[in-house]
Amino acid sequence: MNRKSISSQYSRRKFIHDLSVNAGMAALAVNGLNLFSSCDDNKEKNKGSAMAKDNQNKLGIALVGLGNYAGGQLAPALEQTNDCYLAGIVTGTPSKIDTWKGKYNIPDKNIYNYQNFDSIKDNPDIDIVYVVLPNSMHAEYVIRAAKAGKHVICEKPMAITPEDCDRMIAACKEAGKMLSIGYRLHFEPYNVEMARLGTKKVYGNVKKMNAGFGFPIGDPTQWRLNKKLAGGGPLEDVGIYCIQGFCYTTGLDPIAVIAQEGPKTDKEKFRDVEQSLTWELEFPGNIICHGKASYSEGLNYLQAEAEKGVFELTSAFNYSGQKGNTPAGPMDLPKVNQQAKQMDDFAQAVKNKRPTPVPGEMGKRDVKIIQAIYQAMETGKKVEIR
Ligand code: NAD
Repeated sequence: MNRKSISSQYSRRKFIHDLSVNAGMAALAVNGLNLFSSCDDNKEKNKGSAMAKDNQNKLGIALVGLGNYAGGQLAPALEQTNDCYLAGIVTGTPSKIDTWKGKYNIPDKNIYNYQNFDSIKDNPDIDIVYVVLPNSMHAEYVIRAAKAGKHVICEKPMAITPEDCDRMIAACKEAGKMLSIGYRLHFEPYNVEMARLGTKKVYGNVKKMNAGFGFPIGDPTQWRLNKKLAGGGPLEDVGIYCIQGFCYTTGLDPIAVIAQEGPKTDKEKFRDVEQSLTWELEFPGNIICHGKASYSEGLNYLQAEAEKGVFELTSAFNYSGQKGNTPAGPMDLPKVNQQAKQMDDFAQAVKNKRPTPVPGEMGKRDVKIIQAIYQAMETGKKVEIR
């Protein structure tokens, strides 16, 4: 990784705190899977059998794209899961292989590149493929995974267009495989509590909401600033969490939107995508939700104004460290590894043949909302969402 990309990811990580990495590393250190190291020839074979024994009733996950989220969050979380484990990797960067093999005890037969990825269909160790690539690549890899007969988790945003979402959903349906989106906050207690307080009308009807998510982005050459790869700017990357927060707190889908792009203080860096934007989503019952997404400002809140008071998360969307208040006082809820919970829930859904709470259809809904927000931003007009 070059220095530029390290610094850009540092600024992202600084805002999206990463406590679970350390927890994951601690788990790794005591995992002692090096019992069979006396003979190199047998090492690979025995690695496999040690893994099989440890992971007998777990579903095998293969991560596609070994970038910051896969390496910093998902792989360590897979050290804490009960129903799935890291069985394989798919990477276009051969230099990453040794590190991942060493850290996570992955046998050679479970390591793929983008060219031979489709042969994963013959590998019974892999039950679930988790696509963690730049946004515009999600559709291709989800469809290839489904065609290879694997269940799929796809990172957010699901795709760039609703049409791609349709193709992804159809491919999984045709293959008889499940599809879920990496919406980790559905498994995070503070956000789950926001959804409970809102949908159960604990403080009466929600009248208005406010949410913001943003961070100062670093490296100007990264894919997040390239419209072709990212689909757009901070709305695609972090604004989607505000949209999600509005939907799960109200339990509703929005019907219309107006939006406005923020000023570009760095025209070169943000030549392709917005630097920031604000939008106002209208939900049934005249609930108005104000969102803000930014690549230049640290923002991280989700607030609901209800008939009998305000409930809110003042630290809402990070990997850890959520904080919240209600009219009855501060929230005090368990701290969890969100990604471990999310992946375990999907593995249980697959095992028990029950629906996932975060299906492809939800991913498509959000992609449609994002498109409507951009349309409203570009036209300056109110856009209806159907
Ligand atoms: P990253 O840049 O750190 O990693 C991207 C990976 O894709 C790298 O391994 C890179 O080598 C690979 N890649 C393959 N083709 C590429 C190309 N043409 N250009 C650039 N990279 C290419 O990104 P990330 O932060 O790991 O994000 C990956 C996905 O995960 C995105 O869709 C992002 O929205 C999502 N994500 C989700 C969360 C979450 O909390 N759910 C957090 C971070 C990222």
